[in-house]
Amino acid sequence: MSAWKILLTDGLEKNGQEALRKLAQVDDSKGITADDLLKVVGGYDALIVRGRTKVTEAVFAAGKNLKVVGRAGVGVDNIDLNAAKAHKVTVVNSPMATTLAVAELTMGLMLAVVREIPRGDAGMKAGNWLKKEMEGTELWRKTLGVIGFGRIGAAVARRAAAFDVDIIGYDPLIPADEIQKRGGKPVSFDELLAKSDIITLHIPLTADSKNLLNADAFAKMKDGVIIVCAARGGVIDEAALLAALESGKVAAAGLDVFAAEPPGVTPLVAHPKVICVPHIGAQTQEAQIRAADDIASEVLAALNGDTLRWKVA
Ligand code: NAD
Repeated sequence: MSAWKILLTDGLEKNGQEALRKLAQVDDSKGITADDLLKVVGGYDALIVRGRTKVTEAVFAAGKNLKVVGRAGVGVDNIDLNAAKAHKVTVVNSPMATTLAVAELTMGLMLAVVREIPRGDAGMKAGNWLKKEMEGTELWRKTLGVIGFGRIGAAVARRAAAFDVDIIGYDPLIPADEIQKRGGKPVSFDELLAKSDIITLHIPLTADSKNLLNADAFAKMKDGVIIVCAARGGVIDEAALLAALESGKVAAAGLDVFAAEPPGVTPLVAHPKVICVPHIGAQTQEAQIRAADDIASEVLAALNGDTLRWKVA
């Protein structure tokens, strides 16, 4: 057995743990507190996290032997990438593993919103037959604006195409002809806001994308637009979304992610026109097994100095 020591702070599916244990000592400290992580991180060569653990400058400073941080999943906004670089720690993720799970949830949220499926279900369970009150809309021939046309955005576009939806896409980092190949008509941000009946976001949370949908952006949208977000909470200004729901500018929203998680029963969560789920985008058996396989092999590759597929920093 090699001398590598790996700490799991947010758990990892069995298949990933088994792959790691063939070559390393693995300690599973799922749910470890930030204070306890600082106390023990110095003893490890690698950390494997999901979205919960904050890998801060202090963690890197305390991680004297740390060589690799692996994120089982895509989003690395919980990892201080500048600190990783400064401390010469490699950061890897498993970006392909969760694409389909998030894309399918996005379609689910879209359909749940336009047909008010949770309301119908809640009515049934309370003995209320809400048929006459429940007149939804169809996705058919609506314009779907996809913000962020990467892996998940493109997977959503492929699925939405089957509903005969017109797809427009905004992604300043992807060439227009590539957006076209992925199934969207490339448009500017303002054009997307002005033309979309439904807007879905598939972007990382960065300094540029924080509060991308703010009061200004909502003001440029069609009246009665629908917002779907299974990206990151911080990409929407939640106070502005709530105001837009209250004014009727936004007809309804489907949310998987929140600025603070868990958010509690905020006015946004409690709003009758909001359907929300607890950040379950990547929570499928298949995605978690894929993520565990991918991150185990990538972290071992990083420790062994092999070629990396998904180096983030
Ligand atoms: P990706 O890197 O393939 O695609 C993201 C795209 O967003 C890129 O093409 C990039 O150019 C674009 N982009 C970046 N900033 C932008 C901006 N300001 N405006 C418009 N486009 C912008 O990533 P992906 O695999 O498609 O994942 C997208 C995001 O989904 C992740 O960053 C993560 O935050 C989120 N995600 C959520 C869950 C969940 O559980 N809900 C799971 C996985 C990923």
